[in-house]
Amino acid sequence: MIELHGIRKSFGTLEVLKGIDLNIEKGEVVSIVGPSGAGKTTLLQIIGTLYKPDAGSLLINGTDVLALNSRKLADFRNRHIGFVFQFHQLLPEFTALENIMIPGMIARRSHGELRQRALELLQFMGLQDRAEHKPNELSGGEQQRVAVARALMNQPDVILADEPSGSLDSHNKAELHQLFFELRDKLGQTFVIVTHDEELAQLTDRTIHIIDGHISVPPSILPENEASTI
Ligand code: ADP
Repeated sequence: MIELHGIRKSFGTLEVLKGIDLNIEKGEVVSIVGPSGAGKTTLLQIIGTLYKPDAGSLLINGTDVLALNSRKLADFRNRHIGFVFQFHQLLPEFTALENIMIPGMIARRSHGELRQRALELLQFMGLQDRAEHKPNELSGGEQQRVAVARALMNQPDVILADEPSGSLDSHNKAELHQLFFELRDKLGQTFVIVTHDEELAQLTDRTIHIIDGHISVPPSILPENEASTI
């Protein structure tokens, strides 16, 4: 589903990613963890086609996304990738329903079809009675569920989430974790999640540790003699 090979990225003289190889399968929920400044968000932005790497290749569902021109790339991103951020980034002047419909409008789907899909997503999220509420009339947990519904609007190949539970209290955090796994189990949805939330990382199918721009292999999964040399 997602294949990264030899990904490198620098900002000025700062080399942030120093050669990342990673394959993510359809339906996997993968967490990316590591110290602050290690390059986790940069890696997520590259997978999300928001940053271009300096070197390496990136295939998403067989498409060589780095070969697309900027118009085709924007279209590909909108159709194939959903984003969920720590601060929900809903548009304040639009209702929950309208916020969910936005990615579909960019993809130029018909209004009736979009409204129907957005209503179904609201129902799935248990928010059917919040359709006409604006973001400031919703709780933090509700706003984050609207953001997840918006990310699902165009049935993306993958949802990329950057600290999705970072601004939530423990009850809403647990609900959001549950929602991700429900979406994985019911829809086969693939997730890549950058998180400091250890509880969430432990629940995921696989945890990628980024340390100093590299993927680090935890000593516990290496044969004993190799682990001792690290
Ligand atoms: P993490 O998500 O692991 O905390 P980031 O990927 O956000 O780390 O950042 C890695 C390093 O790259 C940090 O030192 C950060 O300051 C730097 N960085 C990230 N984005 C930019 C940018 N757009 N311009 C310059 N430096 C950046």
